[in-house]
Amino acid sequence: MSTATSTARSSDILRSQRAYFATGATRPLEFRLEQLKKLKQAIQDHETDIVQAARDDLGRPEFEAYFEMGILDELNYVIKHLKGWVKPKKASVPLSQLPGSAWVQSEPLGAVLIIGPWNYPFQLVISPLLGAIAAGNCALIKPSELAPNTSRVVAQLIGEIFDPNYVAVVEGGVETAQALLQLKFDHIFFTGGTRVGQIVMEAAAKHLTPVTLELGGKSPCIVDTDVDIKTTAKRILWGKFLNAGQTCVAPDYLLVHEEIKVPLLEALKTTLQESYGENPAESPDLARVINERQFDRLAGYLESASIYFGGDRDRSQGYIAPTLLEPVTWDDPVMQEEIFGPILPVLPYGDLGEAIAAINARPKPLAIYLFSRNKQIQQRILAETSSGGVCINEVFMHIAIWEMPFGGVGQSGIGAYHGKTSFDTFSHQKSVLKKPFLLDINWRYAPYAGKLSLLKKAIMR
Ligand code: NAD
Repeated sequence: MSTATSTARSSDILRSQRAYFATGATRPLEFRLEQLKKLKQAIQDHETDIVQAARDDLGRPEFEAYFEMGILDELNYVIKHLKGWVKPKKASVPLSQLPGSAWVQSEPLGAVLIIGPWNYPFQLVISPLLGAIAAGNCALIKPSELAPNTSRVVAQLIGEIFDPNYVAVVEGGVETAQALLQLKFDHIFFTGGTRVGQIVMEAAAKHLTPVTLELGGKSPCIVDTDVDIKTTAKRILWGKFLNAGQTCVAPDYLLVHEEIKVPLLEALKTTLQESYGENPAESPDLARVINERQFDRLAGYLESASIYFGGDRDRSQGYIAPTLLEPVTWDDPVMQEEIFGPILPVLPYGDLGEAIAAINARPKPLAIYLFSRNKQIQQRILAETSSGGVCINEVFMHIAIWEMPFGGVGQSGIGAYHGKTSFDTFSHQKSVLKKPFLLDINWRYAPYAGKLSLLKKAIMR
């Protein structure tokens, strides 16, 4: 589809969504709940298609492909709590404003755009959609073209249950995304890389459209000496090699206390052998790299690196064995950008202050992981670093707690979502003050003569 056709089609959809939104049909709580339940049913009905698409797009093991269905958990949470979220929140009114009442009520934004990435291609467009629906909006979704099977399933599923005037899917690649970005939406929710995030924000600025940018970056994982080594190794490796490392919150690299480096490397190696066998290429439990472009980028890191374990690869299969790199320096190519693949560099540190300084010298990451029983060290990491989120003695799992916002800070993102935060992201918090006509005390009206001392008394305290 040419850019002109794509723009015209998207523009038609947006116009009809605006008209539908203006009817007020999407606002009642009952309507929102009904749509969320419809979506839940459709996801359950399409379970096989969704899982198979993730397998076909990413060569995922069935177990990992099922992670896409994790969206049902969030859906249940939203359905359960939405009634409480939509209720106006009372605000207390100062004496000077009495008699009167004030409250904050959430209102939908209008027609929103959701642009998704390829790595969790179903979840990462449907999860923001829950928020958009819960908040009473219309939505247009553009899934990633690099996960074409999932893109098709999303289009089919949404097409079956929703009128495009309400929720629509536009499939396509960069040109389609750019055509969409020319239009004036009421919010743009983008998940993807930092570079494209900048393009999205620039396009949004033309219309003063607010954005949520869920980006990536290099999330460090610090390992102190006071740990259970075996469990530490298992948790880190699971978070890193799940989906072949193509996870925004995967630990990007390890910062390991030099005293524990050797035993940790041994434990990592043994755990990798236990998880994926002697020849990971034959393991049914290892996903593949999405495409040749990504494969070549990742293989490039390996060419000049010191491989401690792994390193095997096969371009025709998108296969890269889970790989540990050691020794590594901050100047190595692998340390210059988000890895987003099954390669784990290991760097030592002697003093925690040095490790913290190294993290703080770089863009703020989406997550920081710390393995340590030492409470002082835990406190230092929380107090002296900044990141979208933190896990202590865990990786990744903080994103599946629906009462916590998920998002980045600095270069790892703008805004957040999940659970109630998604509802807030897709709502405007409208402040309302209501007064009766009674008791209209004259203190603020001209002529002001004789009233200044009263004003001073009230405000100069
Ligand atoms: P990407 O930025 O290349 O693509 C994301 C979307 O943007 C796709 O739908 C694509 O069609 C569109 N796009 C690509 N180039 C564009 C352009 N020039 N103009 C307009 N639109 C364009 O990201 P990706 O490769 O799909 O995903 C990987 C990145 O996403 C990683 O950096 C990862 O960390 C990040 N990510 C972040 C999260 C999060 O929740 N924070 C989740 C998953 C992935």
